[in-house]
Amino acid sequence: MDKSCPGQNTLFWKPEDIYEIPCPVCGRPVEFFKDDLTRKCPSCGFRFPNPKLDLGCLEWCRYADRCIAALKEGKPAGVQDSSDEPKEGEEGSG
Ligand SMILES: [Zn+2]
Repeated sequence: MDKSCPGQNTLFWKPEDIYEIPCPVCGRPVEFFKDDLTRKCPSCGFRFPNPKLDLGCLEWCRYADRCIAALKEGKPAGVQDSSDEPKEGEEGSG
Protein backbone atom coordinates (compact mmCIF):
# COMPACT_ATOMS: atom_id res chain seq x y z
CA MET A 1 0.00 0.00 0.00
CA ASP A 2 2.50 2.58 0.98
CA LYS A 3 5.87 3.06 -0.61
CA SER A 4 7.68 5.23 1.82
CA CYS A 5 11.30 5.35 2.88
CA PRO A 6 13.01 2.20 4.24
CA GLY A 7 13.13 3.63 7.74
CA GLN A 8 9.35 3.40 7.84
CA ASN A 9 9.25 -0.25 6.79
CA THR A 10 7.66 -2.29 9.54
CA LEU A 11 9.65 -5.37 8.46
CA PHE A 12 12.67 -3.87 10.18
CA TRP A 13 10.84 -2.92 13.33
CA LYS A 14 11.57 -4.35 16.73
CA PRO A 15 8.87 -5.56 19.11
CA GLU A 16 9.36 -2.50 21.28
CA ASP A 17 8.49 -0.32 18.35
CA ILE A 18 4.88 -1.29 18.90
CA TYR A 19 3.37 -0.55 22.27
CA GLU A 20 0.09 -0.02 24.01
CA ILE A 21 -0.93 3.29 25.49
CA PRO A 22 -3.99 3.46 27.74
CA CYS A 23 -6.77 5.59 26.33
CA PRO A 24 -7.01 8.86 28.29
CA VAL A 25 -10.79 8.64 28.18
CA CYS A 26 -11.72 5.04 28.92
CA GLY A 27 -8.36 3.53 29.88
CA ARG A 28 -8.45 0.80 27.29
CA PRO A 29 -4.99 -0.11 25.93
CA VAL A 30 -4.59 1.25 22.40
CA GLU A 31 -1.90 -0.19 20.17
CA PHE A 32 0.51 2.40 18.81
CA PHE A 33 3.17 2.02 16.18
CA LYS A 34 6.22 4.16 16.81
CA ASP A 35 5.50 6.32 13.78
CA ASP A 36 1.79 6.73 14.36
CA LEU A 37 0.87 10.38 14.71
CA THR A 38 -2.47 9.61 16.31
CA ARG A 39 -4.50 6.53 17.08
CA LYS A 40 -8.19 6.01 17.63
CA CYS A 41 -9.41 4.10 20.64
CA PRO A 42 -11.35 1.05 19.41
CA SER A 43 -13.47 1.15 22.52
CA CYS A 44 -14.71 4.73 22.81
CA GLY A 45 -13.54 6.17 19.49
CA PHE A 46 -11.43 8.90 21.05
CA ARG A 47 -8.43 9.87 18.92
CA PHE A 48 -5.30 10.93 20.73
CA PRO A 49 -1.69 11.65 19.74
CA ASN A 50 1.14 9.17 20.08
CA PRO A 51 3.12 10.15 23.19
CA LYS A 52 6.20 8.27 22.00
CA LEU A 53 6.22 9.37 18.40
CA ASP A 54 9.58 8.45 16.97
CA LEU A 55 10.42 9.12 13.37
CA GLY A 56 13.96 7.83 13.66
CA CYS A 57 14.57 7.62 9.94
CA LEU A 58 14.08 11.35 9.63
CA GLU A 59 17.39 11.82 11.39
CA TRP A 60 19.33 10.36 8.51
CA CYS A 61 16.96 10.21 5.59
CA ARG A 62 17.83 12.78 2.92
CA TYR A 63 14.16 13.05 2.05
CA ALA A 64 13.10 13.77 5.62
CA ASP A 65 11.99 17.28 4.76
CA ARG A 66 9.64 15.93 2.15
CA CYS A 67 8.35 13.22 4.46
CA ILE A 68 7.54 15.75 7.15
CA ALA A 69 5.94 18.06 4.62
CA ALA A 70 3.86 15.17 3.35
CA LEU A 71 2.81 14.24 6.85
CA LYS A 72 1.73 17.76 7.58
CA GLU A 73 -0.26 17.92 4.38
CA GLY A 74 -1.79 14.55 5.07
CA LYS A 75 -0.41 13.07 1.87
CA PRO A 76 1.58 9.85 1.54
CA ALA A 77 5.30 10.36 1.54
CA GLY A 78 6.79 10.34 -1.90
CA VAL A 79 9.70 11.68 -3.79
CA GLN A 80 9.21 13.68 -6.91
CA ASP A 81 11.59 15.17 -9.34
CA SER A 82 12.15 18.74 -8.46
CA SER A 83 14.19 21.13 -10.52
CA ASP A 84 14.17 24.01 -8.11
CA GLU A 85 16.92 22.64 -5.92
CA PRO A 86 20.16 24.58 -5.74
CA LYS A 87 23.01 23.06 -7.69
CA GLU A 88 26.26 22.32 -5.98
CA GLY A 89 29.69 23.13 -7.31
CA GLU A 90 28.54 26.30 -8.93
CA GLU A 91 31.28 28.86 -8.92
CA GLY A 92 30.23 32.40 -9.33
CA SER A 93 33.14 34.09 -10.97
CA GLY A 94 32.03 36.81 -13.13
ZN1 LIG B 1 -11.16 4.99 24.85
